[in-house]
Amino acid sequence: MATQSSNPEVLPLEAAHFDLLRVPLIGGFLRWRHSRTILQVPLFLVAVVMILHGLLGPTLAPKNLASVLTWIHFRGALVLVLLCAGNFFCLACPFMLVRNAARRLFRPRFPWPRALRNKWISVALFVVILFTYELFSLWSSPWWTASLAIAYFVAVLFIDGLFKHASFCKFVCPIGQFNFIASTLSPLEVQVRDHGVCDRCRTKDCIRGRRQDRIEQAAPGTKSHATGNANGFVILQRGCELALFQPQKVGNMDCTFCLDCVHACPHDNVGVRSRLPGAELMVNPIRSGIGYFSRRKDIAALALVFTFGALVNAFGMVSPVYAVEAWLTRLLSLSHAAPVLGVIFATFLVVEPAILLGAAAWLTRALGGSTLRLVPLAVRYSYALVPLGFGMWLAHYGFHFLTGILTIVPVTQSALANLGVHLFGAPHWTWTGMPARFVQPMELGFLLLGFAGSLFISYQLAEEDCAPQPMRAFLPWAAVCLLIGLASVWLMFQPMEMRAMLMGG
Ligand code: SF4
Ligand code: SF4
Repeated sequence: MATQSSNPEVLPLEAAHFDLLRVPLIGGFLRWRHSRTILQVPLFLVAVVMILHGLLGPTLAPKNLASVLTWIHFRGALVLVLLCAGNFFCLACPFMLVRNAARRLFRPRFPWPRALRNKWISVALFVVILFTYELFSLWSSPWWTASLAIAYFVAVLFIDGLFKHASFCKFVCPIGQFNFIASTLSPLEVQVRDHGVCDRCRTKDCIRGRRQDRIEQAAPGTKSHATGNANGFVILQRGCELALFQPQKVGNMDCTFCLDCVHACPHDNVGVRSRLPGAELMVNPIRSGIGYFSRRKDIAALALVFTFGALVNAFGMVSPVYAVEAWLTRLLSLSHAAPVLGVIFATFLVVEPAILLGAAAWLTRALGGSTLRLVPLAVRYSYALVPLGFGMWLAHYGFHFLTGILTIVPVTQSALANLGVHLFGAPHWTWTGMPARFVQPMELGFLLLGFAGSLFISYQLAEEDCAPQPMRAFLPWAAVCLLIGLASVWLMFQPMEMRAMLMGG
């Protein structure tokens, strides 16, 4: 376990920040090198139970652990933890537990292809998951839900079995990208405590990993926790697999909160510290492992899919979606749901963002006098929409989570009863969760919070772009935020389909 730093230079800076790793018990636990495994094991066991129940249990979704836990509890808990703390799901990710175990047997040999070192694959997979979720009604099929989880385990093992470092997390995993972009709004960040200590640091173990010569390691009495090796040395503790060099890391993008850098830093100079949520979306420095946000069209696309995908996903659970689908079916003379859904997705994820961002960017040039061209302007302000998207995900998933939080009790009772174990009598099927009328004000609060966040970030960007008259550059983006915000409120207060009331539709 790492020890507390006695470096006096660290202390004054630390006083200004809350640091989770300095909190008694929690901090000590997180600094323990086995803490991640301890968090992963229960989630892995839950995943195994879910998969078994999904494949072998009842086919009715509200009575199956796979569908209830995935579409009600996991999604809701995920967004609430991201809002209140940070990317702690990636820290406890059960897929990485299996991957790490497999890597003790098979060492990956290949670097991830240079041409694929971007987010395009994961953005495409994000869209595919949203699409198949609607097309195949994943929420209503325990079997398909369990199969999706199995496919995830297989994909992780295949990709990280072939390719070095955390290729799956950084370039493929759509859940990870969701977490990365949402965690830009989290209040906690894994960050350096004192940059002066890093300036004087010679080893840079946080990125290289803590190493030991083979000869030294072979010496009698030497104790080692070595997990891998390379030419002439043994790696006692790996450094950041996501290629984030702590002194130059900015924000939470790409950070899995794995805490490898915390364990590797020999100066105890990395903390999990408080910061202003969303602050990283207002600035454009070069970021370790990422580069400039303003040049990353793939990350801007991720931000847009995150934002507009939140609306599409919510649209699928309200009654008007059926009227739109029926109208499109007649208009295009189609007989299958896939092309109809394809048109809806293309409209909301491609055409609508292109029109809104294109018009706002054009007005920013015309009114605000920005010298940036249209595409760089659209890329730059895409990040300002992330709070709106996050507000919508929170409102949607938070609703299902809070109104269905107790459903886990009767579903577990029922699953145990099928095994002959009767816990607390017959399943309490009347246990659901909070009444919807109490949750709706919270939903509105999440949407307003997201709207306010997007306005604030847009104004900060406009101030930087068009210093003399920022209001002129800001107004077009404020109008875009208003449109998305109004659409979100409209969606949230539409009558829901029964599927959404029964499950996490
Ligand atoms: S975080 Fe630690 S290992 Fe990394 S540069 Fe700073 S002091 Fe060195
Ligand atoms: S090692 Fe990298 S991904 Fe893990 S917590 Fe540190 S910066 Fe984040």
